[in-house]
Amino acid sequence: MELRDLPSVDELARGLDDPLAVDAARSVIERAREEIRAGADPGDLEARLEEELRGIRAPSLRRVLNATGVIIHTNLGRAPLAEEALVRVVETARGYSNLELDLTAGARGSRQDHVAFLLRRLTGAEAALVVNNNAAAVLLALAALGEGREVVVSRGELIEIGDGFRIPDVLAHSGARLVEVGSTNRTRAKDYDKAVGPNTALLLRVHQSNFRVVGFTELPKLEELAAVARRHGIPLVDDLGSGVLIELSGEPSAKESLAAGSDLVCFSGDKLLGGPQAGIVVGRADLVERLRRHPLQRAMRADKLTLAALEGTLQLYLDAPERIPVLRMLGQDLETVRTRAGRLAALVGGTVEETVGRVGGGALPLAELASAACAVEESLAQPLRHGDPPVLGVVRDGKLLLDCLAIADAEVDEVAAAVSACR
Ligand SMILES: *Cc1c(COP(=O)(O)O)cnc(C)c1O
Repeated sequence: MELRDLPSVDELARGLDDPLAVDAARSVIERAREEIRAGADPGDLEARLEEELRGIRAPSLRRVLNATGVIIHTNLGRAPLAEEALVRVVETARGYSNLELDLTAGARGSRQDHVAFLLRRLTGAEAALVVNNNAAAVLLALAALGEGREVVVSRGELIEIGDGFRIPDVLAHSGARLVEVGSTNRTRAKDYDKAVGPNTALLLRVHQSNFRVVGFTELPKLEELAAVARRHGIPLVDDLGSGVLIELSGEPSAKESLAAGSDLVCFSGDKLLGGPQAGIVVGRADLVERLRRHPLQRAMRADKLTLAALEGTLQLYLDAPERIPVLRMLGQDLETVRTRAGRLAALVGGTVEETVGRVGGGALPLAELASAACAVEESLAQPLRHGDPPVLGVVRDGKLLLDCLAIADAEVDEVAAAVSACR
C-alpha cells in the first residue's frame, strides 16, 4: 500500500454507526501513514478501525489478576472486598438510603453513625470517624488539634508513605508546626518531654509502617509516650498506617494502641483491615468531635459506597473474619498455595517454584510469606499484561513467575486461559 492508496478519514468511517468512528478512523489513518513511510504494510484498515473502537470503548479501570505475590498491592487497588461488603455496596448504590437520616426519629442523622458502633465495639474506643483515606485522617487530626501550634514527632518517624508523599509535608499543610525530636535511630521519652512547651498541641507517633531501622535503635513504648502526654495535658495521636483489628504479630492494632494510652488512633480501611479505601479515626469522644466539626471534615468525608463497604467488612469482624479476602490470603498455608501453583503449572505446562510473598500496603515490611509460583517463559510478561483480563506477574532470572499467593482458587483457570491466549 502507498500513501495515495489510503482512504480519507470519512471514507474509512463511513457506514459505521458510531459517534467515535471519525476520531478512531483519524488515528488509524495517521498510524497507517507512518507505517507506510517506514516501509511497512498497514494491513486491513477496516479491521484496525474496529480494533481501535473496541480499545476506546473498553473501560480504563479494569479488574486484573494479581500474580505478583503481594497481597495488599497499592498499584493494584489494595484490598479486594469480601462478598458481604460488595452486597452492601450494590444495595446501597442502587437506590436511596438513610445515609443522613435517623429513621427512628425521622430527623436528620449523621453518615458517621452507620459504622461508629462497630468501630467502637472492635477497638474499645469512645468514638469514631471515617474520612476518605488515612492521609486525610492524619491531616484532619493535625489541623483540628494542632493548627497554629506545635506537633512533636520523632526524627525516626518522619516517613515517606509512598509516591513522594511525606509526613512532614502533610503536617505542614495542616497548619501545625513540626518539632522534631531524637535522631534517626534513637528517640527517648525524655526527648519528647523536653520538647513540649506552652505552644505544643500534641504528640504524634507515626508507625514505621513500610521500613525498619535495625541495629543501635531505640523508640519509647507507647505507654511512655502516653505518660509524657498526660503529664503535659496534651493528646497523643497515633498514626498506625495499616492498623489491624485482629491480633497479628508485628502490627499494632487500634485496640492495643488505645489501651496503651493513645488519645486518637488513625488507620487505613484498605490495608490490613481488608475493606474499602478509607481513613478511620478512633479515640476520645471530645477529640473526635473536634475533628467532626472542622471544615476539612466536610471536604474529606467518606461517600455512601465507602461506608456501605466498610460496614459490610466490619460486620464480618464480629463473627467471620476469615471471610475477609486479605485475612484469608494472609492465613493460607504453603501447601494450599503450592497446590494452586501446581494446578496452574499442569494447565499451562509450567514448573512450580517456591517464592517469598509480601503483605504489602506498608504493613509488616520484613514479613516473608512462604508462597509458590508457576514459572513460565519471560516473553509472556508483556502480552499477559495486555491481555483481558490483564495478568501481572514477576520477572525473575529470565522467567515469569505467576505467584499464586494472591490468586483465588477460582481464578486459576482464568490465568491459565490468559497464558494459552498469549502463546
Ligand atoms: C499508608 C499510610 C498512610 C496513608 O494511608 P492511606 O490510607 O494510603 O491514605 C499514612 N500513614 C502511614 C504510617 C501509612 O502507612
